[in-house]
Amino acid sequence: MTRVLTLAAFAVVAHLAVLGPGRAQEGDFGAFVEALRPDATARGVSRKTFEAAFAGVSGPDPEVIARTRRQGEFSRPVWDYLVGAVSPGRIAKGRAQAARLATTLKAIEARTGVPGPVILAFWGVESDFGASAGNLPTVRSLASLASVRHRGTLFRDELLAALQILEKGDVEPAKMVGSWAGAMGQVQFLPSVYLREAVDFDGDGRRDIWRSEADSLASIAHYLRSLGWNPGVSWGYEVRLPDGFDLTRYRGPLADFAARGLRRTDGQPLPAKGEASLFLPGGIGGPVFLITENFEVIRGYNTADSYALAIGHLADRLAGAPALAAPWPNNAARLDGAGLKRLQQGLAREGLYAGETDGRAGPKLREAVRQYQIRVGLPADGYARPALLERLDGTARP
Ligand code: CA
Repeated sequence: MTRVLTLAAFAVVAHLAVLGPGRAQEGDFGAFVEALRPDATARGVSRKTFEAAFAGVSGPDPEVIARTRRQGEFSRPVWDYLVGAVSPGRIAKGRAQAARLATTLKAIEARTGVPGPVILAFWGVESDFGASAGNLPTVRSLASLASVRHRGTLFRDELLAALQILEKGDVEPAKMVGSWAGAMGQVQFLPSVYLREAVDFDGDGRRDIWRSEADSLASIAHYLRSLGWNPGVSWGYEVRLPDGFDLTRYRGPLADFAARGLRRTDGQPLPAKGEASLFLPGGIGGPVFLITENFEVIRGYNTADSYALAIGHLADRLAGAPALAAPWPNNAARLDGAGLKRLQQGLAREGLYAGETDGRAGPKLREAVRQYQIRVGLPADGYARPALLERLDGTARP
């Protein structure tokens, strides 16, 4: 099965500058490591820790560098992504884990307010419940990425944070492993996130997201709490739009949506309190969701809409909910990364979009698309379809 996209993989795309021509020379790498020393010292990293961390690391990992150029996964349609991330196999595995770890999950929920199925969904998507956490040495991966970049300091900062972790002694250099992009352990935290958010839940004095299930699960919950998880509120609900529903009013109190005829597809009532907004990730004709503030909290772990939807839906399935009621549009026309970039530029020209021109869908682009749709009298579903770009580019035919 294709490994689903991780937090760090998205971070690469968000922050990766243009890589230099060819591969970094080993001499350059040595100079890069030497230049790191004063900054490591300033962060309290001892000479001994530094030497141990770089023992046997003589140059960048070519495989890590090569991975930065493979970005095809990022423009996968949300429905393809969900097939892999919320597969029947993963649901079955997750339900077994829920039973096996019920006591631990209950204790973590009591402390953080994050429900067990939500924690398990992250654990499942990030590392297949700890089974595929990645086995590349984190220091070498981060040093590889940091040494070949021309601008930006993301990976260099993460490398320094990794050295701080080693200094604290939570893990030995050989056991500090993870993805090619530096996301570590069962929870796929970047080192800076680990320093802020990882917790020791099993009480052995080490924050161990590599080997301790309890620490891993509690660290996920602690991070979500820090990101603003609101206990007692779902991430969202699949709903059915009544005929003639006014899509221009797409945000507001859940009670208002209920009063306007929106119903959950599973037959349960919408909560009387709270706010939500409509989310149509495949446009009109596909599944429709009301998403809450907790959807945005999930996006704090990984900013992709499809990731957040996968986490939310998997959590529901682990709690016993049925599959999505509405089918995804079959072969729906959609924009790739380059198309989304042009759409962002076009909407910026219209004065509707002020976010980054990064070719990625998200709340800001959705909002701009809706405002444009409202302006020109189209159904305001917020879906970035090719016809919209054609129209913006002035190439639409009557
Ligand atoms: Ca521990």
